[in-house]
This record gives sequence, C-alpha cells and structure tokens, in this order.
Amino acid sequence: MKTLKIAIQKSGRLNEKSVELLKNCGLSFDNYKSSLISGVSNFPLEILFLRDDDIPEYVQDGIADLGIVGENVIQETEVAVSYLQRLGFGKCSLKIAIPNSYHLQHVNELSGKSIATTYPVILGKFLKEQGVEADIRTISGSVEISPGLGLSDAICDLVSTGGTLKSNGLKPFCDVMSSEAVLIGRPGSENEELVQELIQRVQSVLRAKETKYVVLNVHKENLKSIIALLPGVKSPSVVSLAEEGWVAVHTVIPESDFWDRISQLKQAGAQGIVVMPIEKIIL
Ligand code: ATP
Ligand code: ZN
Repeated sequence: MKTLKIAIQKSGRLNEKSVELLKNCGLSFDNYKSSLISGVSNFPLEILFLRDDDIPEYVQDGIADLGIVGENVIQETEVAVSYLQRLGFGKCSLKIAIPNSYHLQHVNELSGKSIATTYPVILGKFLKEQGVEADIRTISGSVEISPGLGLSDAICDLVSTGGTLKSNGLKPFCDVMSSEAVLIGRPGSENEELVQELIQRVQSVLRAKETKYVVLNVHKENLKSIIALLPGVKSPSVVSLAEEGWVAVHTVIPESDFWDRISQLKQAGAQGIVVMPIEKIIL
C-alpha cells in the first residue's frame, strides 16, 4: 500500500490545532518546527508542513492526498478538491469593513469605492452577485492599514474578534463569507481505504469533543424525570448503588447546552454529578 500524505500549515493560526487533531487520532509523529515532512510511526502516513496558500493545489495535483486548510483559501485558489470534513476550528469571517466615519447603509453604496484585500477572487464574485461595481485593490498583507494610508476607501479581510478592525478605526460593514478549517481530499484517490480510515478517526475525535460523559446519583423515585432530560447515544445506563433506593446514571451530554442541562438535572434530584471528557466515540 502507498504511504498517504497529508498537508497541514507549517506555522500560523491552523498549525497547532491541526497537529493536535492528528495526535488525537492516535498518530505518532515528531513535530519539529524545522521539519518540512514528518513520518508517522504507527500509520502509513507522512505529514507535509506547508504554507496554507499552497495546500489546496498540492492536494489537487496529487502531491498530498489530504489537506487541512481554511475554506477561505480553497475558495480563493479556485481548485478542484473535495470537502471531506468540517473541523470546527479556525473559525473566522471574511468581511468588508469601512472607516468609522463612513455612514453607509446598503452594499450598493460601495459602488465606485476602492476596496483593498488579499482575497480578490472571493470579493470579486461577491460584488458581482450583489451587482456592485467597486475597484478591488489586491495587496499582499496588512490590509487593515490601507484606508488610514489613503490606499483604499474600504477593506475586505478575515475577522474573528474584530479587535484589529477597531484598533485601525474601522467597523464591520457586511459579511462576504464565513470560514473554518476543513479536511480536503481529491476525488478518486488511489489510497481510498486509508483515506476512509483516517476520516473515521477524525470523525470519532470530533464527536467526542462535542460531548461529555456524565455520571450522577439519583433516588429511584426521581429516575423517570432524570431520564426524560437525557438524550444519550441510546438510553442511559442505570446501575444500582449499595445504598437502598439509589442508582447511578451514566450518560453522554452534548457540550452545546451543557450547563442548562446540568442545572435541570440538579433540579430534578441529581446528586454527586461527575463530568468527564471523552477521548473518542466510535459508532
Ligand atoms: P501562511 O504562512 O501559512 O501563509 P497566513 O499568514 O496566510 O499563513 P494565518 O494568519 O496563519 O495565515 O491564518 C491561517 C488561516 O486561519 C486563515 O486562512 C483562516 O482560515 C484562519 N483564521 C482564523 N481566524 C483568523 C483571523 N482572525 N485572521 C486570519 N485568519 C484567520
Ligand atoms: Zn497564507
């Protein structure tokens, strides 16, 4: 069988989370800052450390079988790759932002304005869809300082918290696209079996992240109302306790509404609630 190759970002915002995900998939490899390629000792896989901008093309051209990269980069490079799995990290949005002193109401009002960006392809498509004719100024970085320097009226850039916009006297005006890191591959890869094995490992890690394992004690008379509050993969496990009339309930709770559910369980009579992280969920 051929060795599979996965391309991830060498350094930057996606590097740490990509490495963590692969390690959580049980893959054992060295992660030296200096290396461009690293072998995995317990899976037929090599990890290529690259600039994120190059990852979609490497996957499209078959140099790597898989890649982890932001959707924004995939759309900007316009390559033919398949989305295998959204990964839930690297979340950000590509937004048009304008100086605080501008009072624009509608996207149409961008007509005739200049917009600096490192995402000319995505921005161009967006403006066309909106029927706006603006002047796109493609620059290679530090987009947020261009209105201050008089290089453009507005900018189109990635935003997560909005702190950078604020400190440059800019405010968000409209959303162009939202993005997160995704696992990409190539249709018809010759390593399909290994690709599937890796996707399944990734999915089991992601499922586990979204949930917590919970054990709680409850008096039998309150058991029905506790069970009614629990989703569980199937139904919860109920185990008798040494103390007469009491049981322990074992279940899995989604992270999303975790605190609401815990307080409902307490109100319904749950005691001694123990919460544990889950490493993997294999269905
Ligand atoms: P490289 O050296 O690999 O080219 P880069 O400077 O282009 O790195 P980073 O700033 O590390 O890229 O961002 C990588 C990805 O992280 C982005 O393409 C985007 O998908 C995601 N991301 C998440 N939040 C943000 C943010 N606030 N600003 C920029 N990118 C973000
Ligand atoms: Zn980049």
